[in-house]
Amino acid sequence: MAKKITLLGSTGSIGTQSLDVARTQGYEVFALAAYSNVDLLERQIQEFHPRYVAVVSPVAYERLSARLAGQADAPILMQGAESLVELAKMPEADVVLNAVVGIAGLGATLAALEAGKDVALANKESLVTGGHLVMQAAQKSGAKLLPVDSEHSAIFQCLQDPYGPKALSKILLTASGGPFFGMKPEELKNKTFRDALKHPNWSMGSKITIDSATLMNKGLELIEAVWLFDLPADKVEVVVQRQSIIHSMVQFVDNSILAQLGVPDMRIPIQYALTWPERLPGSTPELDFRTLQSITFDQPDEETFRCLAACKKAITKGGLAPCAANGANEEAVRLFLEEKIGFLDIGRLVEAVVDSDSFGGSYNLSDVYECDRMARRFVLEQL
Ligand code: NAD
Ligand code: MG
Repeated sequence: MAKKITLLGSTGSIGTQSLDVARTQGYEVFALAAYSNVDLLERQIQEFHPRYVAVVSPVAYERLSARLAGQADAPILMQGAESLVELAKMPEADVVLNAVVGIAGLGATLAALEAGKDVALANKESLVTGGHLVMQAAQKSGAKLLPVDSEHSAIFQCLQDPYGPKALSKILLTASGGPFFGMKPEELKNKTFRDALKHPNWSMGSKITIDSATLMNKGLELIEAVWLFDLPADKVEVVVQRQSIIHSMVQFVDNSILAQLGVPDMRIPIQYALTWPERLPGSTPELDFRTLQSITFDQPDEETFRCLAACKKAITKGGLAPCAANGANEEAVRLFLEEKIGFLDIGRLVEAVVDSDSFGGSYNLSDVYECDRMARRFVLEQL
């Protein structure tokens, strides 16, 4: 039987590549959700015939309704942020692939897991902001959390041997270093969003591309790894691997290391999350060792790229500190894209919010959203 997928964030970089995988594998698309790209949603509806489609923006919802009016096999349309949560819970889908960007994805991740739905998770911000709640929901219902982020997919793939997780001693989380690798603050201070959007190896949404330039993305991924693989933060070591060929490595207690390699193409980890525990042929090219000249390693420069240092501080503090770091970053990236703050301000603001409170103790979902609002206010007050 073909798998049935609910895809949240279908119009984005991960969303569209997920539909490539669905097309290749002949999966059924049960539901789609996106913020506002009506043209692309309409094409996706024509090709995949989902039963439900959720649109967050009210204006986009009206436009899509008008376009689909009178069509015999049109999907049921839903509107607003809550509709993602409704879709995530629906029993018909086998898996919910969450490719929404930002904390906006948290509610749906939790709702799916609480309803016992497996979640293929690209939305790393779910784990960063509400890691404790997400892991608890998965544990309670027994639903699986399947990593889509390429590094976490690599780690997950390296841990398939049943004895692996018990003998895991360290994670070597690889980082491309982004477009500004090797640069110092003097050079970075005048970088614009146009410079930052030129990633050397991956083509991604604008928020994660800026996060890659600041190394915030690696900080978020370090936190994501701590939750997914249950290791303390000091056992997750960031290694710069400029070519993005090694997607991450695991080290065991005997100091043996396993790595996962492949071309930098997100369809590999997306497909693995959907076919796991099986492996099936896909549409990505093979890695060509005749043209691959070298695989190099470097150290990240945390003195310059403060976001990574701030994320380490945040996960070590625990509680809502990672949520605060994430909220400050989401707001700072938005301001940077609007050219209201400079490149180095992003790291400064993320670090300042982490330093502003102890953030300790347990939390519930409304605490998470309150902390996110506080962090955003904090950033706006610094302007
Ligand atoms: P993107 O900006 O290209 O797409 C984001 C998607 O989310 C779009 O479909 C958009 O409509 C939807 N969306 C945006 N705001 C929303 C909101 N408030 N409510 C509901 N939907 C909303 O982003 P992306 O690059 O595809 O990244 C998606 C997620 O996957 C992020 O968490 C990112 O960190 C993660 N990720 C991306 C890549 C990549 O290669 N692009 C790799 C690893 C992890
Ligand atoms: Mg990644």
